[in-house]
Amino acid sequence: MKILVVLKDIGYEPKEFKTTVSPEDMGYYGEYDILEDVEVNITVRKTDIGYALKVKGETTMKFICARCLEEFERRYIFQDENILRKSVDSLERLSDKDVETIYIDKDEIDVMPILRDIFLTFLPINPLCSPDCLGICPVCGSKMYKERHKHKVSTRKLGDILKKEVRM
Ligand SMILES: [Zn+2]
Ligand SMILES: [Zn+2]
Repeated sequence: MKILVVLKDIGYEPKEFKTTVSPEDMGYYGEYDILEDVEVNITVRKTDIGYALKVKGETTMKFICARCLEEFERRYIFQDENILRKSVDSLERLSDKDVETIYIDKDEIDVMPILRDIFLTFLPINPLCSPDCLGICPVCGSKMYKERHKHKVSTRKLGDILKKEVRM
């Protein structure tokens, strides 16, 4: 799948494009699941050195909590801005290093690889089901909550159990 934007039609006034990309077309085969179509919002405008391209994607994903390993669903919004320049100008250097420059040699650009790139770049490395997730209990392996999760088995009682077993 391609998302083609014809650049020669773009002026200094920002032009907006909307489209959707199915989870399959995102071509992501990572750890998490994309649960619905990605809503894509593209804004392009001409600048003195080329074109400014803003790409934003939004979808719902199934993540796995890095602490308690439980699955959870959350909106995933990712966006970034790129500068598009004709390759002839490539000897010049941009002073603004925060904005990535993409060199183009045609009057149209396929936004699909850029979208995929931004999607991957902003995926959380250690997603958490909640910021204060307490993770998994080291004793029983179940998810820990702030309230009441105590184990009856203290070390003293464990000693008693061992003694009984010795007697038997
Ligand atoms: Zn968690
Ligand atoms: Zn436990």
